[in-house]
Amino acid sequence: MEHAVVTGGAGFLGSHLVDSLLEDRYRVTVLDNYGSGRPENLSHVESSQLTVQKHDVRDTFPEFDDVDIVYHMASRASPDDFASHAVEIAMTNSLGTKHALECAREHNACALIASTSEVYGNPEEHPQSETYNGNVNIRGPRAPYDESKRFSEALAVAYGQRYSMDIRTVRIFNTYGPRMDPHDGRVIPNFLSQAIRGDDLTIYGDGSQTRSFCYVTDLIKGIRGFADASTSVASGEVINIGNTHEITIEQLAETILDNVDTDSDMTYQPLPEDDPEIRKPDITKAKQMLSWRPKVSLVEGLKNTIDEFDPDQ
Ligand code: NAD
Ligand code: UDP
Repeated sequence: MEHAVVTGGAGFLGSHLVDSLLEDRYRVTVLDNYGSGRPENLSHVESSQLTVQKHDVRDTFPEFDDVDIVYHMASRASPDDFASHAVEIAMTNSLGTKHALECAREHNACALIASTSEVYGNPEEHPQSETYNGNVNIRGPRAPYDESKRFSEALAVAYGQRYSMDIRTVRIFNTYGPRMDPHDGRVIPNFLSQAIRGDDLTIYGDGSQTRSFCYVTDLIKGIRGFADASTSVASGEVINIGNTHEITIEQLAETILDNVDTDSDMTYQPLPEDDPEIRKPDITKAKQMLSWRPKVSLVEGLKNTIDEFDPDQ
């Protein structure tokens, strides 16, 4: 039985990844400090193949007998946390990535590093393909996250070359679904909480900025497909995974108001500094390499999310 170590496995994406690995008969060890994750995200798991260890990846990993793959998913990811947890985030994506890579190196294992569309910053190329080097404000409020993810990628490339390791990097674009933290400040949990409570939806800026939202099951299938692809195809590669249906934040708010029984309206608040104006992945590479494409529409994904969403959780 193969052994996967999942950092950040008690978080939103990490916990869905754990489900998928257990379904495919992996033995799974989660390392999580519960900074933004919750034990409840894994409380539904009954499998004896899951071990959860409270561990901060800024510290050297615990000893393991054997490891086949390390999924490095740990990192706070909400822009609301970028200022309040700046140093923690920067170190999780630098020292934490080093520890994840060292663990993979020690066990001759594959490593899959979670990067982000934020490496493209406020993009001047649209849609963003993997060859685009981005436009990040290195001293701005998003820099501790954006730049540490960029460093994380650079370190992954360096380890791959220096130690001949099989390291793969996935650039994740905005993803949503059940188990998102309702309080973490990202746009879909905010809008859903507000709509369910009957509060007005807080649109930052004029709502003309765009994003493309990927449902979590699509994202996890993409990540797993990438991790399971043959070494000759995927080793050393970076890939965008996300949905290509680009909408404005105002359109997102309208869609949520259409799908929740609510009297809420919209209210406008200042746009945070360096908030990217546009974002949409070019997923040509994922389609060609993995025969992967997102399948769940925004309305279908939102309905699934709303069914399980509890703003008071
Ligand atoms: P999340 O906050 O739900 O999950 C992150 C998990 O990492 C949490 O369980 C948290 O407790 C844990 N963690 C944070 N710092 C840690 C540390 N120092 N040591 C151990 N554990 C730590 O966020 P998420 O949305 O599930 O994001 C997971 C990964 O995907 C992150 O690396 C994030 O940057 C990346 N990502 C997510 C999105 C998205 O839309 N959800 C987009 C781009 C990239
Ligand atoms: N946003 C918003 N209202 C909110 C939360 C976010 O209008 O209550 C906007 C935010 O300014 C950004 C977009 O929604 O333009 C997506 O924000 P999120 O924090 O989800 O992720 P980002 O893509 O910015 O990392």
